[in-house]
Amino acid sequence: AAEEGFDIEDVEGAIEAAGHGPLPVLAVVGRPNVGKSTLVNRIIGRREAVVEDKPGVTRDRVTYEAEWAGRRFKVVDTGGWEQDVLGIDASVAAQAEYAIDAADAVVFVVDAKVGATDTDQAVVRLLRKAGKPVVLCANKVDGPSAEADATYLWSLGLGEPHPVSALHGRGTGDMLDAVLEALPEAPEQTFGTAVGGPRRIALIGRPNVGKSSLLNKVAGEERVVVNELAGTTRDPVDELIKLGGVTWKFVDTAGIRKRVHLQQGADYYASLRTAAAVEKAEVAVILIDASENISVQDQRIVTMAVDAGRAIVLAFNKWDTLDEERRYYLEREIETELAQVAWAPRVNVSARTGRHMEKLVPAIETALAGWETRVPTGRLNAFLGELVSAHPHPVRGGKQPRILFGTQAGTKPPRFVLFASGFIEAGYRRFIERRLREQFGFEGTPIHLSVRVRE
Ligand code: GDP
Ligand code: GDP
Repeated sequence: AAEEGFDIEDVEGAIEAAGHGPLPVLAVVGRPNVGKSTLVNRIIGRREAVVEDKPGVTRDRVTYEAEWAGRRFKVVDTGGWEQDVLGIDASVAAQAEYAIDAADAVVFVVDAKVGATDTDQAVVRLLRKAGKPVVLCANKVDGPSAEADATYLWSLGLGEPHPVSALHGRGTGDMLDAVLEALPEAPEQTFGTAVGGPRRIALIGRPNVGKSSLLNKVAGEERVVVNELAGTTRDPVDELIKLGGVTWKFVDTAGIRKRVHLQQGADYYASLRTAAAVEKAEVAVILIDASENISVQDQRIVTMAVDAGRAIVLAFNKWDTLDEERRYYLEREIETELAQVAWAPRVNVSARTGRHMEKLVPAIETALAGWETRVPTGRLNAFLGELVSAHPHPVRGGKQPRILFGTQAGTKPPRFVLFASGFIEAGYRRFIERRLREQFGFEGTPIHLSVRVRE
């Protein structure tokens, strides 16, 4: 490395930064209007404002990446909806539960100017039950004179209230320091107690694609255990199901069942639920209704799973209803609309007839194998050396940037760091990714490529 112009610390730093694996998850919960979205914006340091959204309007995203004091984590924003027909307490509780369930730590936001309300007390009970680390944010403390308001929140019994003005940024640094203390280095869901346990599958897809039908079909007689992991306000979260002789954990299956009260804000719940399930899973089985056109909503779900770095299987359901014409157009649509996951294994199934159910497990295993693939550094560099001499980067401004060497910094999904003598264009990065896939497989997994340029 040294003779190529990188010092060893650069190289080690780049590998460490790229190889972080799944990030711990922070959920921000609280009543409407306490300032959750304002705080999330503050935490992720973003210019585009989530806050300007109208309440109840569907958000594309509910999870964001953030960094504080050199540590990266994910933030789940629950600020995007209004109370539904169940009333304020139940609505706040339901959305908080989804978020808390998927989180490694929670920021509970209370409006210090208002003080603790009954609804806040209801959330406190949920937090106690969940047993996750909690940082109490006393928001809207815009100046020193308001600090006294925050001290009243000791009464919630959640420890020290952190006085914050999400709007002006006051106190957010100290609060984030407390958040970092509460967050584990790696997500509990992935690296904690679950290691060695059953592999975790999220069965996701837009409403009515056939998720609950498929779950029932695969579970069939073989349903071994129904875990009563959840509290009293909702049904079981995760189910263990034996398929192909192996026990799998289907995460967040409660979200798959019909919930009658989901009227207002139903789309928002659906995306929060999907995001939570994806966070908890290793592999996402994305169900698509083959009888209908592939929609923007399908694509959003695909993007969510790709961005989360999960292994992916595409299952085209309702195959029993397809005629020849529809099959023809579906293939064209898949090529154009799902190009971003052209690498995902695909099964054409029918939850109704049971068609090709036996192909699901091999596809999941393929995707997980790709997700965990590690390419030895020697092989990677032999491959890069040949590739770069056969297909050099185009000359730009009289210079020809060159990939000097590379290494795989991590798996789940595979992450590569390439070290280069100059700026590598996006097109050339994509070319390298394509060739990496051709050479080493990576079926069913996103791969991350980062490039370090010699100073
Ligand atoms: P959410 O519903 O909990 O996501 O709340 P929002 O983030 O949408 O904020 C609700 C309202 O409170 C907005 O008008 C914000 O501008 C305001 N707000 C949020 N944080 C603060 C704060 O620290 N101080 C003051 N004075 N207002 C705030
Ligand atoms: P979910 O909202 O994704 O859980 O979808 P459901 O499992 O509730 O299915 C929605 C509708 O599609 C129901 O009427 C199912 O009977 C129907 N359905 C599900 N899978 C299939 C399938 O493979 N073929 C056909 N023809 N209909 C299906």
